Amino acid sequence: MLDTELFRIPQRFIEPGSYPDEISRLLPALKQAAEEARENQRVVTEKVGEQYGGIFQAHALMIEDPGLRQEIEALIRDQGFTAEYAVSRVMRRRAKALESLNHAYLSARAADIFDLERRILRHLLGKRQEHLQKLKQPVILLAHDLTPSETAELDREHILAFATEVGGKTSHTAIMAGVLEIPAVVGLGRFITDVSGGDQVIVDGNKGLLILNPDVDTLAHYEEARRSFVRFEKGLAELRDLPAVTKDGVEIALLGNIEFPEEAEACLERGASGVGLYRTEFLYLGKREDPSEEEHFEAYSRVVTQMAGKPVVIRTLDLGADKFSSVTDPNNAEKNPFLGVRSIRLCLRNLKLFKTQMRAILRASALGDVRIMFPMISTLLELRQSKMILADVMEDLEDEGIAFNRKLPIGTMIEVPSAAIMADQLAREVDFFSLGTNDLIQYTLAADRNNENVASLYNAADPAVLRLIERVVKAAEQAHVAVNVCGEMSGEPIYTMLLVGMGLRQLSATPHNIPEIKKLIRSITVEEAKQVARQVMRMETARNITNYLREQTRRILPEAL
Ligand code: PEP
Ligand code: MG
Repeated sequence: MLDTELFRIPQRFIEPGSYPDEISRLLPALKQAAEEARENQRVVTEKVGEQYGGIFQAHALMIEDPGLRQEIEALIRDQGFTAEYAVSRVMRRRAKALESLNHAYLSARAADIFDLERRILRHLLGKRQEHLQKLKQPVILLAHDLTPSETAELDREHILAFATEVGGKTSHTAIMAGVLEIPAVVGLGRFITDVSGGDQVIVDGNKGLLILNPDVDTLAHYEEARRSFVRFEKGLAELRDLPAVTKDGVEIALLGNIEFPEEAEACLERGASGVGLYRTEFLYLGKREDPSEEEHFEAYSRVVTQMAGKPVVIRTLDLGADKFSSVTDPNNAEKNPFLGVRSIRLCLRNLKLFKTQMRAILRASALGDVRIMFPMISTLLELRQSKMILADVMEDLEDEGIAFNRKLPIGTMIEVPSAAIMADQLAREVDFFSLGTNDLIQYTLAADRNNENVASLYNAADPAVLRLIERVVKAAEQAHVAVNVCGEMSGEPIYTMLLVGMGLRQLSATPHNIPEIKKLIRSITVEEAKQVARQVMRMETARNITNYLREQTRRILPEAL
């Protein structure tokens, strides 16, 4: 169990007879936490007035409540729990009681109880705080929320799985989980008050379930499911060197999405025919300053060299919104960052940053099949501006005598509805398209990809999204421009037949999804995929489409579901 300060509530039982020691740890921690609340009360009252200071007075009173102390002591004495675990149990029980009153104001007070829990634990753990980076045993991580950076820094040897209360399935946190191959479920809604550190839980990433304290039958069922999943994965590994060709001989290029240079290896291991999306903004992970041209170049050249002649699509920085927005402008926080100065908009306002990256991409283009791609293009003018800047940088490099590929293919993401609508125009000015369905879905349906409360609207199978995809594929075909799908949709088996049937011949996915998608492709004909697509395009609702696609996929490869 992880609290918002990212420390764990450790070990649940104490040695028999050692409960007086635990109690003597508990009492000073309670005292210090109460003193801290009183000090906050004093400072806050002085600064902003008594009514605000009163919040902390209430905190102090709650901690000093003899009933609270007795309840915690009883758990230590009678159940043999550690002080931390007992504190956590009692506080969560109280928070749960408040939440269950179904009263908006009182439910919100549950957050205060968590705050108190954290306060007491902080004193209790003192120097013994167990940070996530120093795990010695395997754990399942349960948290209210994890940012993409926190996820990227998880220790994959020890974190067996994680689950969060908030977030969406194409949030960058979820994408990072896929990259690290950590089973995860995000956006489950409230569950933290129902668990305590040390409880037994099952995370079912396939079905999006978190099972608390499973019974013996459920455990046995999941043990078997895990074993058969491992067998299925092993079987898939044998596909690595086989081509992704349909039964009627049509080749589909399966490429990998990467965030870090180290993942180039995962692409090769999983049989990717190139890198279809390199999300370069991850160069900012853990950095306070912009990476230098050399740092960009070093990362790109590693990938390009490793891919040994296979295509590598390097996407220019997609910073902002949920990705490392701290490097954007912390003093000028936007109200709607997903609709704000994100991605290409940020680069076009910060030419030094943009050109530095372009120089590095161009230099890397001398080493292999590098292609450049612009994210979040929403108008033709943005694309033209970006291309003009690229032309400028090419001239600079030429003047300096630095080698690069003058014919570097240029592509654009299609991830904003305006770009999909104007795809015929955009197609005349690029060499390729890449459909970013993660954003295209959220912008089409006005449903935040990170918000679990609108997850039912956020759906790749929504007819509106599919019509936009259809439109883009047609525009690309007419202009003889290649078109790829690089959103999470391309790694989900239920959409493979549909996408192939709609005319897509390139899919780019998180490397670990590639073998399964390949297996599906090798099990279908383009003719039957086209039939599926025709059927889907006649349907009216996402629900019907999802059910139908699930049925069709189950028919062909039941293990995929
Ligand atoms: C997308 O939006 O589909 C995409 C691939 O880009 P990202 O997930 O990085 O926003
Ligand atoms: Mg995107």
